[in-house]
Amino acid sequence: MELHYPFDEPPQLGRPMRVAAGIYWLRIPLPMVLDHINLWLLEDGDGWTIVDTGLALAETRELWQQVLDEWMNGLPVKRVIVTHLHPDHLGLAGWLVEKTGARFYMSQTEYTMGCKLRADTGQSAPQGAVEFYRAAGFCDADLDRFRRMYGRFGKMVAPLPDDYTRLADTDTLRIGEFSWEIVTGSGHSPEHVCLYNPELELFISGDQLLPRISSVITVWPTEPDANPLRNWLDSCKKLSDFLPGQVLVLPSHGQPFHGAHHRLAALIDGHEQVLGKLLEACSTPQRAIDVFDVLFKGKVDEGNYMMACGESIAHLNYLMNQSVISTEMDPQGVRWYRQA
Ligand SMILES: [Zn+2]
Repeated sequence: MELHYPFDEPPQLGRPMRVAAGIYWLRIPLPMVLDHINLWLLEDGDGWTIVDTGLALAETRELWQQVLDEWMNGLPVKRVIVTHLHPDHLGLAGWLVEKTGARFYMSQTEYTMGCKLRADTGQSAPQGAVEFYRAAGFCDADLDRFRRMYGRFGKMVAPLPDDYTRLADTDTLRIGEFSWEIVTGSGHSPEHVCLYNPELELFISGDQLLPRISSVITVWPTEPDANPLRNWLDSCKKLSDFLPGQVLVLPSHGQPFHGAHHRLAALIDGHEQVLGKLLEACSTPQRAIDVFDVLFKGKVDEGNYMMACGESIAHLNYLMNQSVISTEMDPQGVRWYRQA
């Protein structure tokens, strides 16, 4: 089945729209190319459960305040669930929890990693991280930009709640009159939580399954040898086995859609094609920054340079783990990849 979008239009920003019994779609603006995030409001008995929160910006706080006051009619928020640690999802969790007294839910790895990244705020970039990007081929100006941008996570994420309730794969969560199964994925973030409602055949996918854009798969300097693309492809297969064909996917970006299996197959196929081309490119020695045109159709500029570099390394690390390419460090500390 090709992708099919049952809703003609997304809701207006900040105006929740019903998508199923007791399930509402709230769209919040983001000040970037990806200009929105979808959040989900679930009826929870005499209150509400919120899934994901938006960036910690004054405009987002204002929108939330309106939703809490006018739309939720002062009913309590019982739970705030965050799918994964990226700032557009986690940003206002701490603020919402403090404001409403809700209980906070996240997976263990996402919570602890989120705490670590927030603690980096205001610190200077570790030398190892600078060497990581030097090895990828960054010039001095790029490295300076990295140093300046280091720790910006905390600018977009309010202080996290000091305690949380852990969500883990195969857990079941009762929210209002429905049971939701927790399904975790990995690769885009370490232990990304999705929620599946078997009765309504609804799947809140976060960034683990998006209809149009492919989720960023990146290696960061904290774990330079990571193989997140392996995790990502495994997660796509896992979801493909888990989800029924007619499920309605509620993604964090874009519009709700049918056709999960088709989309998952296309995502796997897309990465495999890139891996093939990348292996070919490595018939001559390449640095991580040399292969952007193999990976990306769009332009890589200052705004997405680090992310693009991490994504190159994710694909290169995958090939390294398959032993089809090898790497060598030159005297300048730059890493070159070539076919083994
Ligand atoms: Zn994300």
